[in-house]
Amino acid sequence: MIAKTKYIANTRNLLEILPTVDIGEPEDIFIAMENARCPKAELSIKEGDHVKLYQLIGMRYGPFFNQPIHSTVSGTFVGFEKHLHRSGKLVNFAHIKNDFKDEEDKTVTFERTDEEIAKLTREEIMEIARDRASAGLGGSSFPTYIKFDTKGRKINTILINGIECEPYITADKRMMVEHAETVINGIKLMQQAFGTKDARLCVKKKYKDIIDIYNTFLSEMPDSGITVCPVGNYYPQGWEIAMIKSATGIDVPSGHLPSEYGIINFNVSTVAGLYDSVKYNRPVIERYVSVTGDGIKHPGNFSIRNGTPMRYILEKCGGYTHPEKKKVFILGGPMMGASLPSDDCICTKTVTSIIVLNHDEIKEENCIRCGSCVLSCPVHLKPVQIMNAVKAMDKEMIKALEPLKCIECGLCAYSCTSKIQVTDYVRRAKVIAKL
Ligand code: SF4
Ligand code: SF4
Repeated sequence: MIAKTKYIANTRNLLEILPTVDIGEPEDIFIAMENARCPKAELSIKEGDHVKLYQLIGMRYGPFFNQPIHSTVSGTFVGFEKHLHRSGKLVNFAHIKNDFKDEEDKTVTFERTDEEIAKLTREEIMEIARDRASAGLGGSSFPTYIKFDTKGRKINTILINGIECEPYITADKRMMVEHAETVINGIKLMQQAFGTKDARLCVKKKYKDIIDIYNTFLSEMPDSGITVCPVGNYYPQGWEIAMIKSATGIDVPSGHLPSEYGIINFNVSTVAGLYDSVKYNRPVIERYVSVTGDGIKHPGNFSIRNGTPMRYILEKCGGYTHPEKKKVFILGGPMMGASLPSDDCICTKTVTSIIVLNHDEIKEENCIRCGSCVLSCPVHLKPVQIMNAVKAMDKEMIKALEPLKCIECGLCAYSCTSKIQVTDYVRRAKVIAKL
C-alpha cells in the first residue's frame, strides 16, 4: 500500500515567495470525456476538425447536471486516447494537436464593460457560470452555477476560501498575491449576485503578506463590505464547516447546508475564474498548480493549461530526483489528494497540485489502541473502531459508527502511531454503509 502521510521535503516557504511561472503549452492537449459526476460525453466535432481556443466542442452528461466541454487550445482534433484521470481511473480523453496559434473562437468571446457587469442579474451571472463551465477550483469541481440556487434562502454572509490548508500547496496563495484585483472583482460579483454586503476573505492568520495586500486594497474601498478574515493555521481549517465556525461562529450540523444558516462559500480561485468568465465571456482554460515533493528537481507554482499531460509538466520541472527510486504521485494535497499509480495523468481544472515523492516502504504495525486517530478526527468518529468493524465485516456495527460523516481529511492515517492506513478502512466502510 502506498502511504501518503510520510515526510515531504518542505518546499512551501520557498514556493510561497517565488512568482508563478507560465509552464508553456504542450503539443498535445487532452480533454476529459468523463469525470466522476458526468460519466458520459458527446462531442460536436469529428476527427480531423480544426478547433479554436474556447470553442464549445461537446457536452458531458451526468445524473444531476451536464457540463459543457471547451477546447483549451486551437488545433486539430485527432481522436481519443485513454489516460489516468485525477480520480485514478483510466478514462477517454479527446486529443487535440496544438497549433500554438491560440486562435480564439470569436463567436463566443467578448469583453463586458464594468457598467455592463454591474447590471447583470443573479440569473445572468448564473447562466454565464453554467455556459462557461465554471466549477469549484479548490478541487471539488462542483459546478458553480448550482451553488447559486439557494432554494430561496437569503444569504447574509459570503465566505471566500483562501485558506488552502493542506500542507505544501501554495497555488491559491500565489494567485491571491498576483491577482488581487481580479479576486476583489470576483468577490464584488458574488455580492452582486446574492444581494449580500458582508463578504469575508478567509486566509490563514500567519499569511501576514496576504492580509496586508488585501487590507491595503480594501482601505481604498471603505464601503465595500469586503473584509479579510484571518483564521487558524491548522488542518483542516479549509474544510467548509471549520471555516464557517472560525469566520462566523456558526456551527453547521452534519447533513445541513451552509445556506440554511445564511452562508455561502466559494474557493478563491473559483471566484477569480468566474470574474474572468464574466468579464471576457470565456471559460477558464488554465489554473495555478503547485508542483512539489522530494521526487521532483525544481518545484514551483505554475500556470498550466487544462488538459496538459503531467509528464510534460514534470519534464519542465527538470524531471525526477533519484530516477532509480519508485515514485509516489499525488494529485491534490498530501492529506486529501489522490495517489496515482503512474505519471500518465492529465491535469484537469480540478488539479490544485502535483506532489511527487521518492517512495520508501512504510511497514504497518499492529494497532496499539492509542486512540490517536479518535482524538484527531474533526467529525468525532472512531476510526479505529470503524477499521475493526471493516476487518470483521460487521455491517451493523459499520453503519452504527456513521462512517458516512467522514470528510476523508486523512488525519486518522496521519496521526496513527502504527502507520496504519486508517483512512482507507474508513473509505471502505463508507462504501459498505451505502450497500
Ligand atoms: S479521514 Fe475521516 S475518519 Fe479519518 S480523521 Fe478524517 S474525518 Fe475522521
Ligand atoms: S491511531 Fe492507529 S494505533 Fe492508535 S488506535 Fe488508531 S489505528 Fe490504532
